[in-house]
Amino acid sequence: MEPPVNTRSKNPSTLTLDEHAVAASGGELQHIITGTGALNSLAEVVTTLHPAGQVLLLRDATPKTINGVDLVETVRGIITTALVELEADPESLVEFVVPAKAGHDVVANEETIAAVQEAAQEATLVIGLGSGTIGDISKMAHHDAPLVLVQTALSVNGFADPLSVLVLNGAKRTSPSRWPSVLLIDDDVVSQAPARMAQSGVGDAVAIWSAPADWYLSSKLGMGGNYDPNIYLPIREAGMVLQDPDDAVARDGLVHALTRGGLQIGMAGSTAPLSGVDHLVSHVLDMAAMAENAEHDYHGTQVGVATVIALSLWEIIHERDLLNVDTVELEYPDDLEQRTRETWNRIDPTGSLGDESWRAVGNKAKKWASATRAAFDAAGDEHREHLTGLTPTAHFAADTLLRWDAPTKFSQLTPPVDEDRARWALLALPFMRDRLTVCDLLLMRGLWNDELIDEVFARAEHAGGGL
Ligand SMILES: [Zn+2]
Repeated sequence: MEPPVNTRSKNPSTLTLDEHAVAASGGELQHIITGTGALNSLAEVVTTLHPAGQVLLLRDATPKTINGVDLVETVRGIITTALVELEADPESLVEFVVPAKAGHDVVANEETIAAVQEAAQEATLVIGLGSGTIGDISKMAHHDAPLVLVQTALSVNGFADPLSVLVLNGAKRTSPSRWPSVLLIDDDVVSQAPARMAQSGVGDAVAIWSAPADWYLSSKLGMGGNYDPNIYLPIREAGMVLQDPDDAVARDGLVHALTRGGLQIGMAGSTAPLSGVDHLVSHVLDMAAMAENAEHDYHGTQVGVATVIALSLWEIIHERDLLNVDTVELEYPDDLEQRTRETWNRIDPTGSLGDESWRAVGNKAKKWASATRAAFDAAGDEHREHLTGLTPTAHFAADTLLRWDAPTKFSQLTPPVDEDRARWALLALPFMRDRLTVCDLLLMRGLWNDELIDEVFARAEHAGGGL
């Protein structure tokens, strides 16, 4: 698609998921078992990984079924049978139901992590059963005991990577955690999960069409990142199948897009290749909802809507040539701290989110002041050309989401996000974390304002998304 910038890594598209897992994790993630009946392999996995001691099953309280039977009961039965085969005490299977926050699902915050670590102290094998948040929490449970993740939905790409998305001081932060030892994705389990889950997964997956552009900018402007197309190309390749009319083919594409996404994040050592404006919007919406003790939609569902927005923004940037600018001259506005605090004080008058965000944004501004940007300007045409090739139309992302009946608009989220909140979320983007996106450059140019956001909304609506 675009010329490789360097050949640091090889394109692993030709590897099986298992081979890819071993290559990406240096052998820490030993197996990824997929397909119909994958769950039955859990018995062998337990027998192999667990010579003696306590097996901890981590899960949430949400009921799940496989072929009409309770999933937890099924999993419990498989583990117990394996323990009996090992001549181990079946009582060594201990369950911990991760508590949900009142009125919410499970939240991966400091309190939850502490409770899970306490529960896992004696474990010699941890099995996490659930979707994204349970995966993130399970990776924090125990440093040394092997970890098996049984993925119950194709909801997010965070299973096959050594990172956890946590809520720290009320803010979403990606933290290093660990690779799972084995990842199980049973087709019967994930295909029988509620449709909303896979719709969220598709939303997370389409970010592969917008996020690399922010990663490219950050890398080339000396703001962090080691841009390499070989990181995202295999994920884009898998993502091409997401529009296939055959459900089984499209679902297999989603398994590959999400799982290889995790592996490639792990290989890159950063979520940056898959997380740009698309993800920032989702994180900002989460933070606002949490501060107001309100509900928000799934991570990936929000990311999908935001990807249509991000690609609409890129269409405008390319058309109006907005990056044709001397970046050496660009500076953050003098009132950056004030604007950061004002942004967050609107939803959190205690000032705590303002403090937390300014720590990150202040660091970003410091980094920008010392970043070497002359090389970027010298090759400006080449960079703009590369970015044009990197970002498909907003239509393309919207069509992929629609193939799965996934939301494409803020008003279709659960609960709906209204125009005021959507506008605030977009304007807040440069004021949230330490990672540079194209919105930072637009902010420095004085262009990140209501007028441009209106244009983005209109463009997104034309593509089938927007408000
Ligand atoms: Zn994501």
